Amino acid sequence: MEQPAVASIAAFTKTQREGVGFTSQRARDQLCDLLRASGIRDEQVLKVIANTPRHLFVDEALWPHAYQNRTLPIGHAQTISQPWVVARMTELLLAKGVPQKVLEVGTGCGYQTAVLSALVPELHSAERIAELQQRAARVLARLGNVKPQFSLSDGSWGLSEQAPFDGILVTAAPVEVPEALLDQLAIGGRLVIPAGPDGAQRLQVFDRLGEHDYEQQYLDEVAFVPLRSGVVTG
Ligand code: SAH
Repeated sequence: MEQPAVASIAAFTKTQREGVGFTSQRARDQLCDLLRASGIRDEQVLKVIANTPRHLFVDEALWPHAYQNRTLPIGHAQTISQPWVVARMTELLLAKGVPQKVLEVGTGCGYQTAVLSALVPELHSAERIAELQQRAARVLARLGNVKPQFSLSDGSWGLSEQAPFDGILVTAAPVEVPEALLDQLAIGGRLVIPAGPDGAQRLQVFDRLGEHDYEQQYLDEVAFVPLRSGVVTG
């Protein structure tokens, strides 16, 4: 898919990136302390969270809440995930070693994309709502982050032209795990996905052990927006 035009975008200033008060480094460090206290163990992931300006991914009116452990609206009835969920899913994706080529489904505001891009060498991110994708690409470009390759597509079909992936992380919940995502996992690869009916979603991890051999784990209870079909361009 086409990459959005981002060449002429002004970078965020140092002051914007560092923040002040509610958006300061101190606020990010306090968030990391809270994540550590609630079971996040991967210090590399925590370090990336401490270095990623979450406030720049949400509307300025929400900045006082940017480093609280809560979901926030990002428009189009979608939400940025709770920092705890971002940390947990990222740590699960990396738990067996750093996956070289990763697909994220559900770019949203791009915050999880930014966190992943600091940790993996190759990152593809699919989003079905054009406006969200463009906004996310713009924020990342303004942060000087050109690593993620964005795709405007329905990620329930994976991204066949780039498959197989060593890691797939999905940030919207299907009722049933899409076959395409399991098929596009490399042998030895790992899929982290919230799935299940509304009100009964669980984080699930699939490890592909062989051509037809997957190991599945059911983990934390979560509440994600639904994985939907089709692309929204208007
Ligand atoms: N990780 C994101 C989470 C956003 S919410 C963030 O931190 O902001 C989930 C996102 O998944 C929404 O942007 C939604 O539009 C997107 N989504 C839902 N179904 C999708 C699909 N089939 N393909 C791609 N993106 C999808």
